[in-house]
Amino acid sequence: MSGFDVIVVGAGIHGAGVAQAAAAAGHRVLVLEQQHPAYGTSSRSSKLIHGGLRYLETGQFRLVRESLHERALMLKNAPELVQLKPFYIPLYQQTRRQPWQIRVGLSLYAVLGGFRTGCRFGTVSRREWSQLDGLNTDGLHSVFCYHDAQTDDALLTQAVLRSAQKLGATICMPAQLQHAELHAAGVEAIYLENGHERTASGKVLINATGPWVNETLKRVTPAQPIHPIELVQGTHLILPGQLTHGIYYVESPRDGRAIFVMPWYGQTMIGTTETRYRGDPAGVRPLQTEINYLMQTLKHYFPAHRHDTRHSIVRSFAGLRVLPAGAGHAFRRPRETVFAVDQTDRPRLLSIFGGKLTGWRATAEKVMQHVQSSLPTYKLLADTRHIRLLPE
Ligand SMILES: Cc1cc2nc3c(=O)[nH]c(=O)nc-3n(C[C@H](O)[C@H](O)[C@H](O)COP(=O)(O)OP(=O)(O)OC[C@H]3O[C@@H](n4cnc5c(N)ncnc54)[C@H](O)[C@@H]3O)c2cc1C
Repeated sequence: MSGFDVIVVGAGIHGAGVAQAAAAAGHRVLVLEQQHPAYGTSSRSSKLIHGGLRYLETGQFRLVRESLHERALMLKNAPELVQLKPFYIPLYQQTRRQPWQIRVGLSLYAVLGGFRTGCRFGTVSRREWSQLDGLNTDGLHSVFCYHDAQTDDALLTQAVLRSAQKLGATICMPAQLQHAELHAAGVEAIYLENGHERTASGKVLINATGPWVNETLKRVTPAQPIHPIELVQGTHLILPGQLTHGIYYVESPRDGRAIFVMPWYGQTMIGTTETRYRGDPAGVRPLQTEINYLMQTLKHYFPAHRHDTRHSIVRSFAGLRVLPAGAGHAFRRPRETVFAVDQTDRPRLLSIFGGKLTGWRATAEKVMQHVQSSLPTYKLLADTRHIRLLPE
């Protein structure tokens, strides 16, 4: 394969986003994906396009503002893939967060969202509680309602990748990067496609391999520093029985962590958990302890829901968050995306650590700014803020 400007490794939401932004800027783009689009975390998220109300508690205001801005763009550019949904926060006598805290949080959320569509919030009157999908009303004293968006993460990733392809990006799949060699003029990537070893040259290589990010770095010469990260798995369960009203944002009765219970293709999805993971990212699976934890939460808030035995679980899946290694609980760790480059002046390699599904476009634009000095300037083909994303 001949020369490219940008070689992207990984076709999760970040790889797809960078491919779109690079192709929109007129660059020759190659994407290498070892399996299929959204094979990794990008098909195993909570599927929310949101500012992240709970990030306000840890003071991540910049992240929340940016995410709400991106949410507004996706509601406009991908209306078939990203939709606003009502979110309910039930507060009980024993709930850790107080009504005034929720009110302050939702007000701040509306301010950071620029009072755009979906920023209104309020409370559900007591006489309407019986319509909330069988929500437990024992000890319930108020229910807040606000709006955030839901998507199908795998379909969103595919749509972004297709938009990159339409702008001229070449997608190679399944194609696994074996080795990358940095040299004065750029990078040479050696990859396996259908059992055949192939080579492609580029000016920059973007390591968008999610939980495999350090594995990919180990394949680069000269050797690159390996960044201290933790992989934290999050499990979701899909159960029979449909929620008709919206998404419920509840506290685990065990440890107070935020859990979402949401409608999902005519069934109910509940998640997520946070469990430290060590091992091959491809091997991540839901643990029995996580299943018990989520089932306990579901039974607590929806006692009448069809969840009599664990055999009622239709499907379960686990995904991996990439978090900076550090002390304290993963739940309170920053969720900002971090970039690492081989050199600040004219980088040839950029690795993406962490991030959110919601912020994919903003992240991709920042990636392009970081590697701008290594790339030629072409006529802009499209502005990513206005690219329409279509389901197949
Ligand atoms: C449980 C959980 C819930 C979440 N919920 C939300 C949410 O509701 N909203 C939100 O905004 N964010 C959420 N996130 C965060 C979001 O899902 C991730 O930030 C995002 O999906 C990461 O995408 P990625 O492209 O970086 O990685 P991935 O999607 O993992 O993609 C990496 C890709 O690289 C490929 N790859 C790896 N090695 C190679 C190689 N050598 N050669 C070729 N290809 C390779 C893999 O096959 C994979 O497809 C959640 C995360 C988790 C774990």
